[in-house]
Amino acid sequence: MGCGWHVGNGRSILVLEDAWLPRNRPCVSGGVWGVYCSEYTVRSGYRLLLRGFPMTDGDRYNNIGQDTRLIYRKLWEANVPDKMKINCWRFIKNYMPTKSNLFQRQIGPDRMCSRCGIGPKTNLHACRDCPGVLDVWQQLRITWTLLDEMVDVPIVWIGQLFSNDAKQTQFSIITLWAIWNSRNKIIYEGIYQSS
Ligand SMILES: [Zn+2]
Repeated sequence: MGCGWHVGNGRSILVLEDAWLPRNRPCVSGGVWGVYCSEYTVRSGYRLLLRGFPMTDGDRYNNIGQDTRLIYRKLWEANVPDKMKINCWRFIKNYMPTKSNLFQRQIGPDRMCSRCGIGPKTNLHACRDCPGVLDVWQQLRITWTLLDEMVDVPIVWIGQLFSNDAKQTQFSIITLWAIWNSRNKIIYEGIYQSS
């Protein structure tokens, strides 16, 4: 285990800051991410999710442990590329480098959205609530029920998106990935992609 580190409940992992993907090719063995193992697969990461990340604080607050497992299961079983599944998982866990997250870590100058300039760029704003982004979901006819702020958290929203059928689950994961990459183009390449 010399080359690995204990995951525990995962809260000590800074996915964005810790250089663990993709160069280090981590693997999972007994709850330890090893850096030299070549056996890493998304499936092993998924198993770790179910075992090591059963609930977030938000999940626990909302008492949705079993639903969380079902959401992860649907995510894993969806017929989409692994990179899109990982993107969705990072969204759920709030591991995306949103301006809000970067600002919180004293990296970015502000937390405001680069697309609309109105709201703070949280992961929910970036991928759901930003006006241009909202249009994309509406045009795809993917809808959800807006909830009270206290329960309006990423995992609950994803649960709503996944609650229809496998096709909508697949569509939602792909759309989330496309929206996030569109957002990255705005920031890093100065390209505004019309919705
Ligand atoms: Zn916005």
